[in-house]
Amino acid sequence: MTYQHDFLVIGTGIAGLSYALKVARHGTVGIITKKDKAESNTNLAQGGVAAVMSAVDSFDLHYADTMSTGVGLCHSDAVEVLVREGPARLRELIEIGVQFTRKDGKLDLGREGGHSINRIVHAKDFTGREIERALLQAISENPAITVYENHIAVELITEHHTAVKRVIDRQNIHCWGAYALDTLKRSVDVFSAHVVMLATGGLGQVYLHTTNPLIATGDGVAMAYRAGASVANMEFIQFHPTTLYNSGSPSFLISEAVRGFGGILRSVSGEEFMHLYDERKSLAPRDIVAYAIDNELKKRGDEYVHLDLRHLPADQVKERFPYIFDTCLTRFKLDITKEPIPVVPAAHYSCGGVVTDIDGHTSIRGLFASGEVSMTGVHGANRLASNSLLEALVFSDRSSKSSTLSTELLRGEIPAIREWDDSGTFNSEEWVLVSHDRKEIQEIMWDYVGIVRSDMRLERARRRMELIRSEVEAFYKRTKVTPELIELRNLALCAELIIRCAMKRKESRGLHMTTDYRNRDDDAFLADTFAD
Ligand SMILES: Cc1cc2nc3c(=O)[nH]c(=O)nc-3n(C[C@H](O)[C@H](O)[C@H](O)COP(=O)(O)OP(=O)(O)OC[C@H]3O[C@@H](n4cnc5c(N)ncnc54)[C@H](O)[C@@H]3O)c2cc1C
Repeated sequence: MTYQHDFLVIGTGIAGLSYALKVARHGTVGIITKKDKAESNTNLAQGGVAAVMSAVDSFDLHYADTMSTGVGLCHSDAVEVLVREGPARLRELIEIGVQFTRKDGKLDLGREGGHSINRIVHAKDFTGREIERALLQAISENPAITVYENHIAVELITEHHTAVKRVIDRQNIHCWGAYALDTLKRSVDVFSAHVVMLATGGLGQVYLHTTNPLIATGDGVAMAYRAGASVANMEFIQFHPTTLYNSGSPSFLISEAVRGFGGILRSVSGEEFMHLYDERKSLAPRDIVAYAIDNELKKRGDEYVHLDLRHLPADQVKERFPYIFDTCLTRFKLDITKEPIPVVPAAHYSCGGVVTDIDGHTSIRGLFASGEVSMTGVHGANRLASNSLLEALVFSDRSSKSSTLSTELLRGEIPAIREWDDSGTFNSEEWVLVSHDRKEIQEIMWDYVGIVRSDMRLERARRRMELIRSEVEAFYKRTKVTPELIELRNLALCAELIIRCAMKRKESRGLHMTTDYRNRDDDAFLADTFAD
């Protein structure tokens, strides 16, 4: 099948949906999503959205908190845009019906690590679910938008895929759509468009322990990289310090807001330890807290630390964190008001990704990127808590403006595109290889490219990952595509890009910590790391 729209959006999280609603005023929009439309990182976000919404807060403060957390690598123009345009984007969410928590009629602003003031707008502790609900409702009411569930994008369509052979100039690539596997019919369809928005989210599934759902396999980064887009800062993977110990995959998150509310980290034997690492104690930014927990576990030989809420009023804990309280009680038989919560870090967020400017343009013409797949420059070496939902809203809005203002793009001719060619490929019987390779990638990344790295571990990871990736590529070339194989191929490439970027950064900065270079080196490394 071939589908044609003015705009093609890949992904139904906050980045894709908020973009689609805006560009739908200018043409038809097709949105493809690999599974059910609500399955996304967005849907799992608990804490909230950071924005300047009170008289005691200011753009300068939000800017300063973001810049300081990013340890010298945030792009000042992108952060400026984020903090100044954030409040208006948040008000638009309220207009389409998102019900944020209020106290005495005013937005109830929470606090999270790294913020110098209360500024987290939230819907209790299920903020993402509430935003996703309202966005999907608005999408369903918009006749210009068609959502295609169970369509997993395989590859972006560029000059390589046009019916008439074109000269390929690596500096001047154009994107006109994507090939997507209809996972129910098992056919690969062509989705062509004047403008493509890549909003495929994160890549947490590269790691063994992650808060990210199964869909987070780095497909967007991998597809864009293969198409020739610029990708950067892949070494900066944020590990969330507090996920419930032994809660399976994805790991169940205990929101940072719980520490903002007064939760205290202690060792299993009951001692506080965060004062040894940072004067802000349990409210230090995530990288510091994740490192502190990792270090305490290694030092003490424990398997987890405790997050203690027992000193807080039980009724207030239940009122503020109903989702966490109910899930811990019903799924894990743990009453968090009476027992300390056993927690460990897990991979949570990718600060790097497909490089964009502040208007969402990638280095490929016609291709925009927003949300976790992108590298706008907002996060630098570390993301400030609750800045990611905001980043997606602000840069999807800016992308919508730049993509609809460009008559060159919107009126441009879409060339005839070749159908998917899988001649010479077979239905493989060897699916055990796919599941085995996926697990092996996750274990290698967890063991050697985790919170604390070293040259030796990275070199070992590189050798193993190159072998796995070449085997996966060979298997991919002779096999009919399946969702599992597409994801495996993307996971292997993302893992390799993370390792390659990490090997280039011979210093410790933000989320990249290595025992061989313990300090930051501003003379040599005060710049983004480009994957080549
Ligand atoms: C547990 C958890 C809690 C979090 N809490 C917060 C918080 O409180 N505040 C905050 O700011 N951030 C939070 N984050 C981070 C934030 O939720 C994400 O960064 C953000 O939601 C990303 O939005 P997105 O639209 O870029 O991607 P997503 O919401 O992940 O959406 C990606 C979409 O792309 C689709 N997709 C992926 N690959 C393909 C493909 N090949 N073909 C078709 N479709 C594809 C997926 O199915 C999905 O629909 C949290 C993350 C997690 C996991």
